Parts: sequence; structure tokens; C-alpha cells
Amino acid sequence: MSFDENYQVTSNFSELTHDFLSSHLIAPTPVNYAVVYLYISNENELLCAAIDKRLQQGELITADFMAQLFERFVSFSQEVESKILSPFKETLNKTLEKISHQVSNEVKASNSLQKLDKILTNTEHHKSLEQIVGYLFNTINNSKAQHQALSKELTLTQQEINHLKNKLESSRQEALVDSLTGLLNRRGCDSKLQNINFNNTHSTLAIDIDHFKNINDKFGHFVGDKVIQRIAKTIQSHISEHDLAVRFGGEEFMVIMTNKAVTEAKVIAENIRVSIENLKLVQRESNTTLPPISVSIGIAQNNNMTNWTTLFEHADNALYQAKNSGRNCCICA
Ligand code: GH3
Ligand code: MG
Ligand code: MG
Repeated sequence: MSFDENYQVTSNFSELTHDFLSSHLIAPTPVNYAVVYLYISNENELLCAAIDKRLQQGELITADFMAQLFERFVSFSQEVESKILSPFKETLNKTLEKISHQVSNEVKASNSLQKLDKILTNTEHHKSLEQIVGYLFNTINNSKAQHQALSKELTLTQQEINHLKNKLESSRQEALVDSLTGLLNRRGCDSKLQNINFNNTHSTLAIDIDHFKNINDKFGHFVGDKVIQRIAKTIQSHISEHDLAVRFGGEEFMVIMTNKAVTEAKVIAENIRVSIENLKLVQRESNTTLPPISVSIGIAQNNNMTNWTTLFEHADNALYQAKNSGRNCCICA
């Protein structure tokens, strides 16, 4: 599709969106606009089905309903910002510019009329001329007040869009982080890896807690979670800000050591292993000391490899060997 055709389609959608909003008496807020835009452009099957069902049942489209749809279907979409919010904001900015231009013209006109009015009162003239000037003066002042009110309202909408953009950004960030440990989750890992050139030398550690099932069985899942948190913290404390620590699965972690060869990675892995072995874990409520915890670590470097997945597989194979060699040890692929 050419730019013009694309623009045509988008502006048709915007117009239909406005029509839908006004015919269903829905306020034209950014949230409502985004939801209805996606409905009109038929881009999200589930969202369309939810609105169609609501309409078929003859129920009103409420602000709550729209907010729910936004949370569920829109807030995670990468495109909502570029396709809907930004163009909406741009239109808004242009409208605000026009209005402020108009207000300044109205101020000028009203000032000139005021001067004219003074001149007229000081000269001999027809009474009717003075009335006309008074009428024009009032009309312009009224329209100025209306435009100023509109501009205030639009500015509020503009602020709402900014707020929404920030909210979207933070929920996107949250989606990249594991909530238990604060480390990256897999999605976060994928996203960070996109900015790293794989062709440089990198190493990876695959870390798995030994016999972790026993901890859960003896002390319960809650204590198990606390142990995972402590281990995550320990791992994090040994790596640099350029490295990535990822919670890869339940009790499995992956560390990506950027621009580090396996010799350096091995030293850090060994430090992590020893620190975890030496952790003193006490269950506060019962004052019980937990048995020592250990991890097994597989280490690999990206020699002759073309992608991250292969590197992770090599680290994982080394981890498997570490488990088979009696656990609580580090093994290089
Ligand atoms: P191995 O040394 O072979 O790794 O033994 P393991 O017991 O650690 O391994 P296994 O894979 O048999 O068990 C892992 C356990 O980790 C099972 C599961 O209940 C527990 N687990 C996974 N995710 C979580 C979590 O988020 N919290 C808690 N508390 N436990 C978890
Ligand atoms: Mg384990
Ligand atoms: Mg495991």
C-alpha cells in the first residue's frame, strides 16, 4: 500500500472511530479512542468479539467496560503507541496550535475594537455604529472564551495521553522482569539480547539448584520461594552491570556474560557456587536453620556458534554433566 493509500485508510478509520464514539455516547478519551480504533480497523479478533457481543445484548458501552478491554487487549500491544496514541497526539497538538493562533487573532481584534469604541465615543457619530462595534466586541470575546475553554480541555487530554504512554511503558518493562526475583525473565532476556552483537566473545552460565524439591517438601513452597530469592540475589551480586541474569525456569537461572571468555566466566561461576554453598539460611518464624544449599553450573563460550540458542544448549549440556558428576560443581562445555 502506498503512503497516500495508507493515510487514506487510517484517516477513514479515525473518522469511523469518531462516529462510533459519538453515536454510542462514549467520551473521546485516549483509552476509548484506542479501543474503538482497534474495533473499527478489525485488528483484534477477541476485542471485536467482546464489543459485538455487548452490542448484540443491547448493553451500554460503559467507561469501565472500555477500560477492561484496554487492559486486556490493548495495553500490551507494541503498536498501540505508534499506530494510535502518537497520531492522536499529533492531531491534538495541531488543533491546539490552531486554536491558540485563533485566540491570539481574537485578542488582536478585540483590542482594535476597543480602540475603535473609544474613538467613537469621543467623536460625533451615529449611535448605531457604536452598537455594532459593541456587538462585535461581545461576539469576539465570547468566542475567545469558548476557544480558551476548549484549549484547556484539549490540554487535559494531552496530559492523559502522556500519562497513558508512561503507563504502557512501565507495564511493558514489568513484563520483562520476573516478579519473584527481580531478574529478567525469558522475554526480558530475548529483548536484551537483541542489543548484543553475538559475533563478539560471550560466555553463559546455566545454574540449577541441587535437590531443590527436598526444600519444598520439607519446608514448604513459601520457604522455597525465599531460597530462590536469596540465590538470585547472590548470583546478581557476583556479576557486572553488563551481564544479564535471567530466571530461566522455576529454579534455573541463566547468566549471560557479555564480552567475557570462558576462563573469566569460570572464576565467577566458582565464586557464585561457593557463596551459595556458604549461605546461612534460617527460617525466621521457627528459628530453624536450613540445610546447606548448593547449585550446579554449566559454562559455555560461543566459539564457532551462530546463535544464542546453541550457546544456551551447550551450557545446559555442561550443567547436565555437572549434575551427573555429583552436583555442587562447575563444568565447562
Ligand atoms: P536436581 O538436583 O536434579 O536439580 O533436583 P531438583 O529437586 O532441584 O530438581 P527437580 O526438577 O526434580 O525439581 C525442581 C523443583 O523445583 C520442583 C518444583 O516444585 C520446584 N519449583 C519450581 N519452581 C518453583 C518456584 O517458583 N517456587 C518453589 N518454591 N519451587 C519451585
Ligand atoms: Mg534443581
Ligand atoms: Mg531444574
